Amino acid sequence: MLRKHWLNDVIYLFFNGILIKLGFVALVGAMMFAIRLVIPEGMFAVVQAQPIWLQAIEVTLVADIGFYLAHRAFHSVPFLWKFHSVHHSIEEMDWLAAHRVHPVDQIATMTASMLPVYALGFSGSAIAIYAFIYQAQSLLIHSNTRIRFGPLKWVLASPQFHHWHHANERQAYDKNFAGQLPFIDALAGTLYMPERMPRVYGTDDPVPPLYHQQLAYPLKQIAGRVPAAEVSAQTGDSRP
Ligand SMILES: [Zn+2]
Repeated sequence: MLRKHWLNDVIYLFFNGILIKLGFVALVGAMMFAIRLVIPEGMFAVVQAQPIWLQAIEVTLVADIGFYLAHRAFHSVPFLWKFHSVHHSIEEMDWLAAHRVHPVDQIATMTASMLPVYALGFSGSAIAIYAFIYQAQSLLIHSNTRIRFGPLKWVLASPQFHHWHHANERQAYDKNFAGQLPFIDALAGTLYMPERMPRVYGTDDPVPPLYHQQLAYPLKQIAGRVPAAEVSAQTGDSRP
């Protein structure tokens, strides 16, 4: 239970969550104000006329496609990776480590995921069902467990699916970007889910261990305080 740097992730759980919510509400609120000026009111009525269970499935699909695209961008665009590497500094998987996410990363990914959902006008009940399942699933897929999902592993993100996303094994780099629906990765050609569990987790990037250092780390990297050549020399490898 009391693994290395667990207290750091408790700070993420309580304090970082507040920062993320404030940033997310401000950003999405401003964008929705602009979007509502151009989307016809009638469309919301059509979307909300569907049964709640169907809307919840549609919300999950729309939100996870947004999540996939944002997550993939955070891996493939070098300056975005600096922010996302904080999450990939997790070396021991557990539910608490799921909260170790840089606010810039989380606010941008949540916005890409939820803005289309709000813009399409899904009902609050459907979004609440989605949000509850998302939170529970996010904790489960990071947890220190080998629970298998059987054939459902192709439909719902499992610990096996997401642990491979965090594996520090070359063949697993830049795979399994979806948050909830592995078939999005299967369709996009980024699925990687061998039967065994990974042996090593983390990243070779020099992410510092403490919360305040991790907040500043991407900004210092982007500002050139740690030259890329020096990073490569320190680590012997640098993820894209
Ligand atoms: Zn990632």
